[in-house]
Amino acid sequence: MTNAITRGSQTTGTHDQVALICGRYGNDPQRMLDILRDVQDQYRCISRDAMQAVAIKTGLSQVAVEGVASFYAFLSLTPKGRVTIRLCDDIIDRFAGLDAVATAFEAALGITVGQTTADGAISLEYTPCIGMCDQAPAAMINDVVVTALTPEKARAITAALNDGRRPEDLIAKNFDTLTPHAQAAQMVKDNIKHAGAVLLGPVPDEAGLKNALVQNPAQIIDQIAASGLRGCGGAGFSTGRKWRFAAQTDDDRRFIICNADEGEPGTFKDRILLTERPHLLIEGMTIAARAVGAREGILYLRGEYVYLRPLIQEVLEERRTKGLLGQNILGVDGFDFDIRLQMGAGAYICGEEGALISSCEGLPGEPKTRPPYPVTHGYLGHPTVVNNVETFCHAARIMDRGAQWFFDMGSDGSHGTKLFSVSGDCINPGIYELPYGLSVRELLVMAGGEDAAAVLVGGPSGTMIARDTFDSKLGFDDLATGGAIVVFSSDRNILEIVEYYMSFFVHESCGYCTPCRVGNVFLQKAVGKFREGLANPADIAYLRDLSATIIETSRCGLGMTSPNPILSTLDSFPLVYAAMVKPPKDRMRATFDIQSAISDARVLAKRRSSIYDKDFSK
Ligand code: SF4
Repeated sequence: MTNAITRGSQTTGTHDQVALICGRYGNDPQRMLDILRDVQDQYRCISRDAMQAVAIKTGLSQVAVEGVASFYAFLSLTPKGRVTIRLCDDIIDRFAGLDAVATAFEAALGITVGQTTADGAISLEYTPCIGMCDQAPAAMINDVVVTALTPEKARAITAALNDGRRPEDLIAKNFDTLTPHAQAAQMVKDNIKHAGAVLLGPVPDEAGLKNALVQNPAQIIDQIAASGLRGCGGAGFSTGRKWRFAAQTDDDRRFIICNADEGEPGTFKDRILLTERPHLLIEGMTIAARAVGAREGILYLRGEYVYLRPLIQEVLEERRTKGLLGQNILGVDGFDFDIRLQMGAGAYICGEEGALISSCEGLPGEPKTRPPYPVTHGYLGHPTVVNNVETFCHAARIMDRGAQWFFDMGSDGSHGTKLFSVSGDCINPGIYELPYGLSVRELLVMAGGEDAAAVLVGGPSGTMIARDTFDSKLGFDDLATGGAIVVFSSDRNILEIVEYYMSFFVHESCGYCTPCRVGNVFLQKAVGKFREGLANPADIAYLRDLSATIIETSRCGLGMTSPNPILSTLDSFPLVYAAMVKPPKDRMRATFDIQSAISDARVLAKRRSSIYDKDFSK
């Protein structure tokens, strides 16, 4: 009876508290991700009671709420510790010593990765790339980022947390008195190794916006189109054409969305722009709003960059105060535009345009069927321009310096500069802003990675190249990249890298379509066979055939590019695969390791096999 009463009052308390959270977002189901993030922060999980309360307040079914809560990695249906340590499990972190760091945390906490301490204080888990490849191994500790971890640091962090110190206190004693920019700078280095003329050199305040406001929307779009600016996320669609489509679509509501969800492993360029050029970014979004006639904007910030949230919020508020956002911007009658910050919650797929819009709408981050395209039927069904951080920053600079200035930089099909995030086996990892058209080799020389054996251009969904193609040019006309350049020395095992990236895609597939959900698992297993020396020549054809099927039949870009680590290494490193194909013995070929397959059963049954263990009778 007492328990029932206690449970009853707990439930009532939860409902009241969750009602307050929902109220902060107007009980709006489209703000579901914000609501659930807040519930997670308060209760360390999204309990059944909480989901029921959210469902009541937002008018959705509990199943719909659970569909969102169970989709995102940073939301949990079971309780987490008051502090969650998320170790970045990228391949670069592994090569930089992640295993030793994880072991040190496990020993200091008395748990293994995936567990929570018995007192419910601290959870330890792995998470995919958090965008700190230039300062790996790295981790998130609640909303705090720690970089360049060592086993000693892991032990010191654990001791401090056990002493009751907050994650913020690990960064600086006076953390709360620092500005949001200083807080971010204390946590994460910019690592700008080369500042170019467009984004990381001197940038005058609001020059682009002021120029835009003396032009009509069509003239702005003409300038952006004439500059040759293409989307900097990797796909490279003409920004001018995208804006024109949105402007020409008949509707009384249009939206501007900034995709600040750079989740491609090895990519961290937007991190620097968000830290050092947030005003330029918002200026670019505001120019886009002027060009297409949008009054509402969303900045979708990846959950891994939550440490930048206070900085972005401060910038948005400052711009409202200065009349750079809100109504009648800079005194222009009727030019109204404002931006809300939407936090992500740990889902790589939300970097895909349609999935990102779904997430903004309060849904699971699943891609949308195309056509129609977001530019005509996007957020809530209205015309929506989605560009990434770098593209909006470029647009603002183009409106300042003119289309021809931008057009004259770069190469024939790729104009302007590009931010390259360089990481891995090189002396100077970091950010390089350089004109399109330089070769991979030139970039490697700058970064101190000229001894590389392999370079991954564009992240795992891009292309892995070998030394004989290092003279390829970076740009849409030759080697397209969203910006990730990951350098691998000859000490690295190509198949280990490929298998890791396939496991990444398996983990990040939203599961909607079978070829992507299941096919990538088969691909990962097949690569594993090569690593174990159990492959036969037909497996190479199998890898290619299955890859082609996945590319052909997947619904979104994730599935269409997920086999790229395999396909590009089959092309660039055929001998790596060939070397692992074992010649047949007695015309029989081993494709299955029975000893390995029954090893788990041996442990469970606590005995050996009378058939497969030769020394069974001993
Ligand atoms: Fe989801 Fe993969 Fe299909 Fe894309 S291709 S919709 S990620 S299952």
